Amino acid sequence: MRKVIFLDRDGTINIEKSYLHKWEDFEFEKNAIEGLIELKNLGYEFIVVTNQSGIARGYYTENDLRILNKKMVIELQKHGVTILECYYCPHHPDNGIGHYKAVCECRKPNPGMLLEGIEKYNVDIENSFMVGDKKSDLDAGEKAGLKSILVLSGYGEKTKIEVEGKYLIAKDLLDISKLLKCIK
Ligand SMILES: [Zn+2]
Repeated sequence: MRKVIFLDRDGTINIEKSYLHKWEDFEFEKNAIEGLIELKNLGYEFIVVTNQSGIARGYYTENDLRILNKKMVIELQKHGVTILECYYCPHHPDNGIGHYKAVCECRKPNPGMLLEGIEKYNVDIENSFMVGDKKSDLDAGEKAGLKSILVLSGYGEKTKIEVEGKYLIAKDLLDISKLLKCIK
């Protein structure tokens, strides 16, 4: 079985910018790459799970998103960090064009994307984590049976007020590697 860290993307791996969809606007969060390298060295693998309602809203297409994610994956691979898969939810329950307007199982806080990854990659849920900057990330992780960790980047400082005492909290991905080194 594999130890996996499920990662939210915007505000966790890269700097949150509303409806980011162009590579030239993509910037890694402080300590993100360093943190992922350390976590990899601790034996974790990675799956990205991201809500992308900008697709439902018609701001960009699934193809735009796939191109952006692929560039991110290639960039991380240069540092020896492999992303097993990038799952995304293109839906929105209220604001969506055509079939994208839907109540779905994949939009976090629903755990659909995580459950798919857990099954496909034979994930050891006892020793795996969900990391994100929003309560919806943490709740999705909990619903999937994982331990969730809040990062303080992105919306993390705001989320902290809501979830303190309920979820583990770390400054950033590098801080998480230090935390998990202790747990180990
Ligand atoms: Zn969805």
